[in-house]
Amino acid sequence: HAMKIGFIGLGNMGGPMAQNLAKAGHDVTGFDTQTVTLDGVATAASATEAARDADVVITMLPNGEILKSVAAEVIPAMKAGAVFLDCSTVDVDSARAVAADAAAAGLLPLDAPVSGGTGGAQAGTLTFMVGGDAAGFETAKPLFDIMGSKSVHCGASGNGQAAKICNNMILGVTMIATCEAFALADKLGLDRQAMFDVVSTSSGQSWSMNTYCPAPGIGPKSPADNDYKPGFAADLMLKDLRLARAAAEGADADTPMGQAAMALYARFVEEEDGAGRDFSAMLPRFEARGRG
Ligand code: NAD
Repeated sequence: HAMKIGFIGLGNMGGPMAQNLAKAGHDVTGFDTQTVTLDGVATAASATEAARDADVVITMLPNGEILKSVAAEVIPAMKAGAVFLDCSTVDVDSARAVAADAAAAGLLPLDAPVSGGTGGAQAGTLTFMVGGDAAGFETAKPLFDIMGSKSVHCGASGNGQAAKICNNMILGVTMIATCEAFALADKLGLDRQAMFDVVSTSSGQSWSMNTYCPAPGIGPKSPADNDYKPGFAADLMLKDLRLARAAAEGADADTPMGQAAMALYARFVEEEDGAGRDFSAMLPRFEARGRG
C-alpha cells in the first residue's frame, strides 16, 4: 500500500531516492535547504512540514551534526509509531543519540546508510545496512526494495553505521594496497595486464583489484578509464575513514591500517591534487612519487 513519506535532504543521493519512491506510487513530500524540484515529489516549506503526518521520514544529509539538528526539529512533529529512517553516513555516536531521542518520542528509529553511490541511487540498486528494531525494519523493507536491491538488518541502533564504516575502512585499505603494489610492479618492469591477471585470480584479489581496478585500460571499466572522475570521490572516502577513526577511538579498538589509510587520503585530498578525484586516483599519486 502507498505510504506517506517525508524526505529531507534531496542532494545527489536523496534526490533520486525520493524520486524512485514517488515513481513506485508512494506519496512523497520533500524538503531541502537548497531549492530542489523533482518530478512527482511535492515540496514542503520546512522539514517539519515534510515530516508531519508521515508514516516514514527519511533523512539523507551531509553529516551527524546536521542530522542531529534536523532530528531535534522533526521528531516532536512526527506522529506516534512512525519510522524515522536516516540513510546518511554519520558517526555511530550521533546515530545512537538520534535513535534514542526518536525512540523516547514513541517513534521507530532506523540507521540505514547505503553503498552503491549516485549510480545506485538513480538505478534503485543501493545496499542498505540497517540498525534498529525488527518492527521498524519490516515497515521500511518495501522502501528499501524500491530504492535498493539489498538490505541487511545488522542489529540494534548504530549497527548500520558500524557495518558501513567497517566495510569502507577495508575498502580504503585495499585500494591503497592495490595502488602501491601497481606502482611497485611498474618500477620492477612488470606489465600491468600481467599484474592484473595474476593478482585478480590469486590471494591478493579484492573488490579494489577485480571490480574497480585503479589502472586505466586494465580489468572491467572503472573511473580509472574516465580520467579518475568519481565514481567514489577521495573526499568521501576520507570522510568515512575519519568516521572509522572516531568510532575506533570511542570503542578502544586498534585500527592501525585504517589510520594509515586515513592519513594518506587526508594528505591526498588536502595537500595534493586529490580533491574531487576518484579514490582510485591514488595510483597516479603513487606513480608520481619515489620513496622520499
Ligand atoms: P549532497 O551534499 O549532494 O546532499 C545533501 C543535501 O542535504 C544537500 O542537497 C543539502 O542542501 C541538504 N541539506 C543540508 N542541510 C540541510 C538541512 N538542515 N535541512 C535539509 N536539507 C539539508 O550529498 P550526497 O552525496 O547526497 O550524500 C548524502 C549522504 O549520503 C552523506 O552522508 C554521504 O556520506 C552519504 N553517501 C553518499 C554517497 C555518494 O556517492 N554521494 C554514497 C554513499 C553514501
